[in-house]
Amino acid sequence: MMRKLKRDETVLAREIDQQKYKKNLWRFDWLDEVVSLSWKDEKSQKTQDVKLKVGDAFAKINLPGKAQCTLCNNVINYGSNGKTALKRHLKSNKHLTILKTQSVNQSLGSFGTDKVRTLKPHRHTPPLSLSLSLSLSLFLLLILSLSVKLI
Ligand SMILES: [Zn+2]
Repeated sequence: MMRKLKRDETVLAREIDQQKYKKNLWRFDWLDEVVSLSWKDEKSQKTQDVKLKVGDAFAKINLPGKAQCTLCNNVINYGSNGKTALKRHLKSNKHLTILKTQSVNQSLGSFGTDKVRTLKPHRHTPPLSLSLSLSLSLFLLLILSLSVKLI
C-alpha cells in the first residue's frame, strides 16, 4: 500500500529508492529548499512573487524514486533527476493553477498549503459540535432524571 514516509524514516526511504536507483536517493532536506516563482495576476495585472517550500507540497512515499504532491495528488518520479524534478513540478502550470485557486483568499507570503487545507473544513464545525454536545448532555440529563424517577 502507498504510504507517506516521515522525516525520521530517512533510512527506510533510501532503502526503498535503492531497490531501483543508484543515485538521487531521497533526502528529507530537499523539503526545506525553496523555489521562487512569479506570475502575473489577471485581475490586478500585478506581478506576484511567491516562494514555495518543496516540503509544503511534497511527501516522500514508499515507492522507489517517487514522491507525492499533496496539493495535486500527483505522484512525481524524481528517480532520474532528484530534487530538480520536484522543483520542476512546483513550477508547472498544473500545480500553479491549483495553487492559485486555493490561495485566492490568502494574503501573499503565507503560502502554507497545509494551512489552507486544515482551515477550510473546520470553519463551521465549532458551533455545530457545541450544540451537539449540548443536546447530548441534555439527553443524558433527561435519562438521568427518568432513572431517578424509576427508583
Ligand atoms: Zn502539485
